[in-house]
Amino acid sequence: MTTAPLADSAAGPHVIDGKAIAAALRARVAEATADVRRVHDFQPGLAVVLVGEDPASAVYVRNKGKATTEAGLRSLEYKLAADTPEEDLLALVEKLNRDDGVDGILVQLPLPGHVDADKVLNAIDPAKDVDGFHPVNVGRLWTGEPALAPCTPTGCMRMIRGVMPNISGKEAVVVGRSNIVGKPMAAMLLAESATVTIAHSRTHDLRERCRTADILVAAVGRPEMIRGDWVKPGAVVIDVGINRVPKPDGKSRLVGDVAYAEAAARARAITPVPGGVGPMTIACLLENTLVAACRRRGVTPPDL
Ligand code: NAP
Repeated sequence: MTTAPLADSAAGPHVIDGKAIAAALRARVAEATADVRRVHDFQPGLAVVLVGEDPASAVYVRNKGKATTEAGLRSLEYKLAADTPEEDLLALVEKLNRDDGVDGILVQLPLPGHVDADKVLNAIDPAKDVDGFHPVNVGRLWTGEPALAPCTPTGCMRMIRGVMPNISGKEAVVVGRSNIVGKPMAAMLLAESATVTIAHSRTHDLRERCRTADILVAAVGRPEMIRGDWVKPGAVVIDVGINRVPKPDGKSRLVGDVAYAEAAARARAITPVPGGVGPMTIACLLENTLVAACRRRGVTPPDL
């Protein structure tokens, strides 16, 4: 991928434009998908399963379906009632596992309380696990074997590499240890030889730890928790947080986990919210689906 030039610090930090980077990645996925369809005669397919009517999840699923079709992949959507028994959901996952036209399976989280989410995610064929949450893919990611890796941290890595091509030896602090973001993010930074600290709600002196970071990734879910003076001058700051906070006029606005203006005054490069990490997630999902489709058919996946 191309490396964006960094702004000179007098002119402020380089604002990492996730929207533009994601659009470029989606265009490359579309091109590579057209190539595999022409040369190898298959169309990668992504099946998304939504259980219940959570409005945010419904929007995500709609956006995923649209992006999938736009990239030339086949999109299948399964919308199930909120009271669907766990065994029916497991039976659907089994059916999709066996369907040769389905290369990626994504079960939208959160699932209703009566369903054991781990049981459902663990039932997905690891070769079709485009969310990268199956223990087999988690293990492969940590041991350095080819894996399908979670989309959000994969997108973060692309953005970090874009502004810091040599991550080796850098100090990285990841705030948050979820299986979806924090832990896989740490694994990916470690794989590129950063020295990684994973911080969480029990970490002492979080501010001091953050101040050591050449790469600071915030995945906490607390609006603007990371202040400007937690940022080492010249750091690359990746804000994964998406928090809706009320405005005085009764409406709401989106903010990240980082106090943007303060952090931007010290960072070398920083992602905004919205328009930073968010758009990368779907683009990386499309890439994972294409990669899964190629690997399942013994075709070398394109290097995007
Ligand atoms: P999560 O599962 O709730 O995990 C939050 C993590 O933050 C936990 O590890 C928690 O520590 C830690 N934490 C909470 N309060 C803390 C504090 N005061 N100091 C230090 N650490 C603290 O959340 P997630 O799923 O990783 O998501 C994190 C954020 O990213 C959310 O805002 C979410 O909406 C956003 N997100 C964005 C995308 C995207 O596409 N851009 C994708 C996924 C998530 P403990 O483990 O000790 O409780």
